[in-house]
Amino acid sequence: MPDRDRCVALDRDDPLAGRRDRFDLPAGVIYLAGNSLGPPSADAPERLARFAREQWGAHLVGGWTADGWIELPRRLGARIAPLVGADADEVVVCDSTSVNLFKLLHAACDLRPDRPVIAAAADDFPTDRYLVDAVAAQRGRTVRRLDPLRVTAAELADSAVLVCSHVHYRTGRLYDMRSLTAAAHAGGALALWDVSHSVGALPLQLDVCAVDLAVGCTYKFLNGGPGAPALAFVARHAQEAMANPIAGWLGHAEPFAFAPAYRPAAGVGRLVAGTPDVAAMVCLDTALDVFDELDLAAARAKATALTDLFVQLIRGRLGDAFAVVSPREAQMRGSQVSLAHRDAYPIVQALIARGVVGDFRAPDVLRFGFAPLYLRHVDVFDAVSALADVMRAEDWRNPRYTRRAAVT
Ligand SMILES: *Cc1c(COP(=O)(O)O)cnc(C)c1O
Repeated sequence: MPDRDRCVALDRDDPLAGRRDRFDLPAGVIYLAGNSLGPPSADAPERLARFAREQWGAHLVGGWTADGWIELPRRLGARIAPLVGADADEVVVCDSTSVNLFKLLHAACDLRPDRPVIAAAADDFPTDRYLVDAVAAQRGRTVRRLDPLRVTAAELADSAVLVCSHVHYRTGRLYDMRSLTAAAHAGGALALWDVSHSVGALPLQLDVCAVDLAVGCTYKFLNGGPGAPALAFVARHAQEAMANPIAGWLGHAEPFAFAPAYRPAAGVGRLVAGTPDVAAMVCLDTALDVFDELDLAAARAKATALTDLFVQLIRGRLGDAFAVVSPREAQMRGSQVSLAHRDAYPIVQALIARGVVGDFRAPDVLRFGFAPLYLRHVDVFDAVSALADVMRAEDWRNPRYTRRAAVT
């Protein structure tokens, strides 16, 4: 089992060590919740202040043109495209993941008008489940819940689309995008992936996997900031047949013609509905600078090493105190390890009080994200030491840690 010195040595040899300087993390904090909300890059405060002063403050309404604000949904989409294995004109940034999922589920129904079923991963993230149910009801389809580990083409022979999260939010399991997409296609269905927990953490190959549609958050591993607008991907072959169910003016082919009737813009641009969140997009634009010239395969390799190290230290130092919920094989996990314990909630709170920030997911999961751009091996070692201290001192029994906050 590696000791602390060994972890320090691993950090010395880490080719990504320099990226940590691009972030401004609070002193004394080990941040293992970057899979929920990534931290700001070191430039973010200054860039936001400059935006307010030199763009909005100086150019006022002229900023839409002078500072290119109106282009931001397409331009940010083009910046994210190489991170997901897409062409620049297949990705757009707008609205939230939930809203984009709504739009793309409708698009899938448009593209497969005669298919009565929407197939979806059982036990997926709540918003994905709720929206599948809602759109199915709106479009007169029924929902079939499937275990993504056992999907067959035959089960999809009557389905318009298969909807699945790439990394499961609670267990951290990474699903096989290529084979599941192939199964969907073999059954005649489209594949719609939610990449919220994988974009920015590992190289995605939407193109190689022949994915049709995808959505994902930009405030998790991409560090775009709280509420940063989401990505939507539509493969070129699906773009022209797709309609945006929110037929807003900025998805119009000529918004400033103020025409009496809606006519969709070409391509993914039609997924824009209303005025972009410019300040949030400036924040995301800044966050994406950290991904310039980044080898995502190297980031994935480091993340895998960090999650392996964490599991090894948990087992070695805490024995059977926690059940490891995530797959044991690192290649089958995202950048996340989930542990289960009956007292997960107060343990997470007690750990946060010791400076190690993870999160809790009902009913009994402690969730830890390992963002490879700013975490060190030594952070993993110190986090496990803090957890061992919490368990030894039983701080989590303190009633102050059992009171549930609004956001867990
Ligand atoms: C985080 C997450 C979301 C969040 O959606 P919002 O609309 O941004 O709140 C959606 N889906 C998955 C799989 C997530 O992990």
